[in-house]
Amino acid sequence: MRCVQCGSQKDKVLDSRSSKDGAAIRRRRECLKCAYRYTTYEQIERTDLRVVKRNGAREALNREKLMGGLVKACEKRPVSMDRLDRAVEEILTELHKDHLIEVPSATIGGKVMDKLHHIDPVAYVRYVSVYRQFENVNEFIQEIQALSHRAARDPFQRRLFKD
Ligand SMILES: [Zn+2]
Repeated sequence: MRCVQCGSQKDKVLDSRSSKDGAAIRRRRECLKCAYRYTTYEQIERTDLRVVKRNGAREALNREKLMGGLVKACEKRPVSMDRLDRAVEEILTELHKDHLIEVPSATIGGKVMDKLHHIDPVAYVRYVSVYRQFENVNEFIQEIQALSHRAARDPFQRRLFKD
């Protein structure tokens, strides 16, 4: 570590303890040149997971977006941010354990439902209703696209779609 005070890269660790239920190690360090004290956090770096959406599009798995969905579902409910933060951490850990590169969005939705089910019944129902609605709209669009695609090749159906 480069000391922010003097730029020296020589330091010693004064204290080392795990934080955030073992997810990170907090180290108290002291610069050997100027004695400036600072703290560093060490945590496991996760590789980037890609989310495969229903329409086949890919996007980066975004922690803030995941947290945002949970926060929204728990609006005005007696649920602490700390609890939601832990739930997000658990979901991410599970996702990274079971998937190496890509994960279907439906899998993530299922895990969120599972957590909310334990956290708050109202939040759970809210999330499920929004989620299901969204899924249905997608299914609807996909169905229409599939139909019109087929119609383009089938003269009889093409006539049906024109009228
Ligand atoms: Zn220093």
